[in-house]
Amino acid sequence: MADIIQLLPDHVANQIAAGEVVQRPASVVKELLENAIDAKATFIKLLVKEAGKTLIQVIDDGVGMSDTDARLSFERHATSKIKSAEDLFLLNTKGFRGEALASIAAIAHVELKTKQDSQEVGTCIVIEGSQVTSQEVVVTPKGTSIAVKNLFFNIPARRNFLKSNAVELRHIIDEFHRVVLAHPNIGFALYHNGSELFNLPVSNYRQRIVNVFGNKTNEKLVPVDETTEIVKISGFVGKPEYSKKTRGEQYFFVNDRFIKSAYLNHAIAAAYQGLLKEGYHATYFLYLEVNPQSIDINIHPTKTEIKFDDEQTLYAILRSAVKHSLGQFNIAPVLDFER
Ligand code: ADP
Ligand code: MG
Repeated sequence: MADIIQLLPDHVANQIAAGEVVQRPASVVKELLENAIDAKATFIKLLVKEAGKTLIQVIDDGVGMSDTDARLSFERHATSKIKSAEDLFLLNTKGFRGEALASIAAIAHVELKTKQDSQEVGTCIVIEGSQVTSQEVVVTPKGTSIAVKNLFFNIPARRNFLKSNAVELRHIIDEFHRVVLAHPNIGFALYHNGSELFNLPVSNYRQRIVNVFGNKTNEKLVPVDETTEIVKISGFVGKPEYSKKTRGEQYFFVNDRFIKSAYLNHAIAAAYQGLLKEGYHATYFLYLEVNPQSIDINIHPTKTEIKFDDEQTLYAILRSAVKHSLGQFNIAPVLDFER
């Protein structure tokens, strides 16, 4: 009889987990921005070089970490955000899996600088392929800066699989949009190879949308407002004449988290029935607030899909709320279909 099962060393387990969490530079951007938001930052700066292939850096002015926590933050399943399984249904943070930093550190070179308000000086940790190579005292402002360099340096197959800089930057900007649209109460800036692509001041939902997509967007937006026992819906839908042939600007946020839902998207399409030319898609920015206990976010590592308790009722409410808004603004059906 021979025993052949072994527990995998941490750095191997981390690299495997990274396969799920980190698909491309944009995945790192999402995780780092979410950590900065969870740290209660008021301004978050994202710096990328070569579409994130050589550098992704997020600098925040949030709560920072103690020296010990800074080291611990790179351990797998190390999190300050939940303590028990029950907490999963009371979440008010973006993170909870404690996997992102461990995964990122397994497949990139990472430099973390962090300082809490109460500390005189901060700490700087350098970590490569899951190994801490140094930790030193550093003079740094309150908050955290994480620089992720040479993504996939130890996984050539992944590195080679990355698309052109134009494509990878597009993914980063898409991710940036999803995050900044959900958090107009936080200022954000994005720099690529040293040039400023976005500088978004603190504002409200409408103004944030306009700041991201341009002044012309303002006149396209029709407000949606509906409160029922199971959901509060707010946000905007685009006037039908501004619909597009691509599905570009379609955003659902549930409890401040961007989600994808083909089912709910269909509810919007149903509300626009008769208003859009064939092959055109509505623009929408819809914010749903539901009881955290009525959803399950923990069905996929990237958390962009969630499970609702009562999806059918949500569908009906959403469709009627959007229909109502479109009706209120005297938007008549397009009778003359161009084909
Ligand atoms: P999660 O976000 O799921 O907890 P992460 O691996 O993303 O897992 O982060 C691990 C921990 O590191 C967090 O729970 C948090 O305590 C700490 N942390 C990460 N990023 C920051 C940050 N920007 N500011 C303060 N603390 C942070
Ligand atoms: Mg996180």
